[in-house]
Amino acid sequence: MMKVARLADGSPEIFHTLQGEGQSLGAPAVFLRLSQCNLHCHWCDTPYTWNWEKTPWEHQDGVKFQRAKESLELSSQEIAELISQHQCDRVVITGGEPLLQQKELIELIKQLPQISTIEFETNGTIIPHPELITPSIFFNVSPKLANSGMKTDLRINFEALKFFRDQSNAVFKFVVCDEDDLAEILQIQATLEIASSRIILMPEGRDQETLAQRAQWLAEVCLTHAFRFSPRLHVILWGNERAR
Ligand code: SF4
Repeated sequence: MMKVARLADGSPEIFHTLQGEGQSLGAPAVFLRLSQCNLHCHWCDTPYTWNWEKTPWEHQDGVKFQRAKESLELSSQEIAELISQHQCDRVVITGGEPLLQQKELIELIKQLPQISTIEFETNGTIIPHPELITPSIFFNVSPKLANSGMKTDLRINFEALKFFRDQSNAVFKFVVCDEDDLAEILQIQATLEIASSRIILMPEGRDQETLAQRAQWLAEVCLTHAFRFSPRLHVILWGNERAR
């Protein structure tokens, strides 16, 4: 059984939308949002996947969520059927941290023969199982910076990041709060020897005003360092609404 994020009406968070971030920005996709994360970033835009009552984690919103309301368990077959209801050949599996449920994901993917492209949104701390390394599976790796509030040894796993670096189907997406973040990004790039063309910078923000303000200077940083820039299309289109 897989732990899936649950919407206010009790249904699992599986929805058809446009990919809002990264290298396939704008592509129609079915999103599957899983519960649980091994990090607890203080600006996380999906704290309902992990910041449950009676946990010690802190988030800038100061809100705790009821686990039973925010998460449900479904079999891989049930999830595959829900995904198949949409006329779409791309699936984005996100969270939380989806690679915490790799065993179940391998079973799910076997039941999605109509899907031509699968993207994982991962924080880059967990090495994927060999069965997840296929030409149709892509990894959007988002190593967390000091701005996440996480200790370095929790958020940066160089062994895992090197694994992703060596995969042709992986890009690195950094969430940037301010210009001080750049030094850390450049240090990670130098340590791992990642080509600039595989690095995407994206402003942190859950509202259009914050994103627009940060996008201005971040665009200049991308031009200077030959990084790609990513907006957050879903926030521009729908604000912080869930399942969009
Ligand atoms: S790694 Fe991603 S899902 Fe997990 S807490 Fe950080 S921002 Fe949220």
